[in-house]
Amino acid sequence: MAQASSNGNQRPRVVIIGAGFAGLRVIEGLRKAPVDILVIDRNNYHGFWPLLYQVATSILEPQQVVEPVRSIIRQARNARFVQATVEAIDREQHQVITDRGTFPYDELVIAAGSTSNFFGLEEIKEHGFELKDMPDAMALRNHMISCFEQAVLETDPECLDQWLTVVIVGGGPTGVELAGAIAELIRNDFRNDYPTIDFSKVRVVLVEAMDRVLLTFPPELSQKAQQALTDLGVELRFGTQVVGYKDQKLHFKDGTSMSARTVVWTAGVQANPLGKTLGVSLQRGGRVPITPELHLPEDPNVWVIGDMAYLEGKDGKPYPQLATTAMQQGRLVARNILHKLKGERLERYRYVDRGTMAIIGRHAAVARIWNVNWTGPIAWLIWLLVHLFYLISFRDRVMVLVNWIYNYFTQERGARAVVAPRRMTTAQLEAAVAEPSRADPTAATQT
Ligand SMILES: Cc1cc2nc3c(=O)[nH]c(=O)nc-3n(C[C@H](O)[C@H](O)[C@H](O)COP(=O)(O)OP(=O)(O)OC[C@H]3O[C@@H](n4cnc5c(N)ncnc54)[C@H](O)[C@@H]3O)c2cc1C
Repeated sequence: MAQASSNGNQRPRVVIIGAGFAGLRVIEGLRKAPVDILVIDRNNYHGFWPLLYQVATSILEPQQVVEPVRSIIRQARNARFVQATVEAIDREQHQVITDRGTFPYDELVIAAGSTSNFFGLEEIKEHGFELKDMPDAMALRNHMISCFEQAVLETDPECLDQWLTVVIVGGGPTGVELAGAIAELIRNDFRNDYPTIDFSKVRVVLVEAMDRVLLTFPPELSQKAQQALTDLGVELRFGTQVVGYKDQKLHFKDGTSMSARTVVWTAGVQANPLGKTLGVSLQRGGRVPITPELHLPEDPNVWVIGDMAYLEGKDGKPYPQLATTAMQQGRLVARNILHKLKGERLERYRYVDRGTMAIIGRHAAVARIWNVNWTGPIAWLIWLLVHLFYLISFRDRVMVLVNWIYNYFTQERGARAVVAPRRMTTAQLEAAVAEPSRADPTAATQT
């Protein structure tokens, strides 16, 4: 029998914050349960972030890696969706406070993901780029193309170097995949698009503070990835810490600097700041400590999962902030809410390691699956199949596959037009005044 909700409602109200990898699995697991689900997300879409770099580098169109939340929850008749930004959680009143009103809950699932951690480097946050959401990918793509448009007529050699230099900070999977894809975009498409540019002046630089890329992978795989990046013409700088970015100059701890108009920060992740409003002490990276059953230790009605959660495995290390962790935790929370409704014992989380992988370019990838290292075309094929399989809708799978096949045979990326909204919001207008090329990439092309 359904447990009565705290306000006398017959069906318990389950509020899910975030329609990401974790949130969607909770909805899926509860879609036949005697509960009323309210999904709240600041975007009206679910984003498949592992393919975000392909949007940033013109391989895919944005709509191919996002899916409207409303079309996903259509199969769950007990679920409603509200597009709103959650600002705080009032655990005493059992309420979620958003920019569009306050929503009561009986069970609250917090799955709001993570944001970039700039480690206090405000200049990078303001003038650099990141890759955490669709607008980030669009802004980066438009900006990079606009830089080359600008370079065509540039006569000042110093300015030319700035337009033609792309620096990626952080040698984790996102940085490596992005660096490889940018190098390929420049090598294949830009070389044809901009015949008057001297490509010996173009630089793609990957900066990493440690001594190798892909630190969470075995060193042999890091070596392979580094070789593949070097083959694509990416410059690797190890043991280099970024300390600032001013007037198009990136400054390093060793006193050196590098001019670049495009700086992409992939060097740090922190949990969504929403955790700070829970009134609990947070772990490293702002992650929220939870029990093995995935709720707050002092509040069994508040479940925290995915990138926001902090739970250690048997080795004393926190579970990784990966889509696989988020999906597994989402499924478990749905089961545990059902167990709770039936008065049964809750299950504990058991991480199933599905492996890790990173793609570097055409026919080049590295993967660690079932404790085996995979490299080259086999790893590349595994990467493609896994990502295709996990895409949320059949339509997206078809569109992405068609794009990949077209791209494979023609080596041409379709999404190279700078399309930016003409009608701007007040906030965009203010940003455009502060920094024209970032907020309105079309402005940079008007010479
Ligand atoms: C570029 C990139 C590449 C990646 N590649 C891989 C990969 O190859 N393999 C892998 O396993 N993992 C990868 N990851 C990590 C993976 O995407 C995350 O671990 C996973 O998305 C975490 O799931 P989540 O549900 O916790 O958060 P998300 O999937 O990020 O979902 C969070 C949701 O919360 C919403 N939200 C956030 N704040 C608010 C708010 N205040 N109010 C309302 N809604 C809010 C967001 O809009 C979003 O829909 C990648 C991540 C990125 C950014």
